[in-house]
Amino acid sequence: MAKRDYYEVLGVPRGAGEEEIKKAYRRLARKYHPDVNKEDPQAEEKFKEINEAYQVLSDPQKRAAYDQFGHAGADGSFAGGTGGFGGFGDFDFDIFGDIFDLFRGGGRRRRTGPERGADLRVNLTIDFVEAVFGTTTTVAVPRIEVCPVCHGNRAKPGTPIKTCPHCQGSGEVHYVQNTAFGRFSTVRTCEQCGGEGKFIEVPCPECTGEGRIRRRREIEVKIPAGVDNGFRVRVPGEGEAGLRGGPPGDLFVYLTVRPHPLFQREGDNIILEQPISFVRAVLGGVIEIPTLEGTSELKIPGGTQTGTVFRLRGQGVPRLHGHGRGDQLVQVKIQIPTKLNTAQREAVHNLAAAFGEEIPEDKGFFGKVRDAFGK
Ligand SMILES: [Zn+2]
Ligand SMILES: [Zn+2]
Repeated sequence: MAKRDYYEVLGVPRGAGEEEIKKAYRRLARKYHPDVNKEDPQAEEKFKEINEAYQVLSDPQKRAAYDQFGHAGADGSFAGGTGGFGGFGDFDFDIFGDIFDLFRGGGRRRRTGPERGADLRVNLTIDFVEAVFGTTTTVAVPRIEVCPVCHGNRAKPGTPIKTCPHCQGSGEVHYVQNTAFGRFSTVRTCEQCGGEGKFIEVPCPECTGEGRIRRRREIEVKIPAGVDNGFRVRVPGEGEAGLRGGPPGDLFVYLTVRPHPLFQREGDNIILEQPISFVRAVLGGVIEIPTLEGTSELKIPGGTQTGTVFRLRGQGVPRLHGHGRGDQLVQVKIQIPTKLNTAQREAVHNLAAAFGEEIPEDKGFFGKVRDAFGK
């Protein structure tokens, strides 16, 4: 049966104001009220039609939806609902609710199915060399786990799990509201069982019926070679337990790397600042330098300037997601001696003379004092 236009039902123009709609409704409701029209079988249908029209046109949001979508929206074909008005008495509020949710760009979500557990985050500090070559360590993680006694079903073992009497196991409750305009029903997740549809007679004593329990666990973490400060390592499935049979979350280990007394890192390269004497810089030769795995020999050519960088190929950090290693870069710093003994001083003066450089002998403070007094 084709529905009549709501404005036509109330006998008002499309642009009618609130007051005009209310007046028309009151007049028609009095006229067709079933109590005063007991002998007229048409009156009840008419009364339902008037109520339905008023319900929509008196609400600015519903009226706007009706103006835009007409009965199509109310029939549920637009919102994908199941009911529609279906006449007086089982007007399903949710259908309009869904249309309005579309307007707002959102929808209602019922969280009754399995839910994945939360991810966890822990911080871990490791040594410089551990970050370079990788390591296996453990982290202490306080987390929520599935109760080992009831295995998450929340009941004391051996006690029955019954169907929730509040929702008859459906997990949903239809709330019915009686108003002057009819009955309105709203579907909500059952508060008694949280949407699970089950009723626990004797709660599990271990988890007090929660199905989950807080535990502190030592979790083994494999740190791959080549990680650096601020990296995170994912340990799948070691987060919190899921809800209603959902999978667990993941554990994320955030790394802090302790600085090394000798080395610094620049990506896959290891930087070493190596002091050498000025004599070594001048004459050259082979020196021993520290590396990540011990020591190595480094040939310094004669005449090396301060700040020169030497590269030891393949002596750096293993590449995290690939093959090979970075390099060790050795930057030499030429040390100028701050104290010389008499023999050294004489040798340096001879050196100066050999280079043709005139450097007057420093007489020191007392020498200068003696000169000043002419003695
Ligand atoms: Zn339990
Ligand atoms: Zn229930």
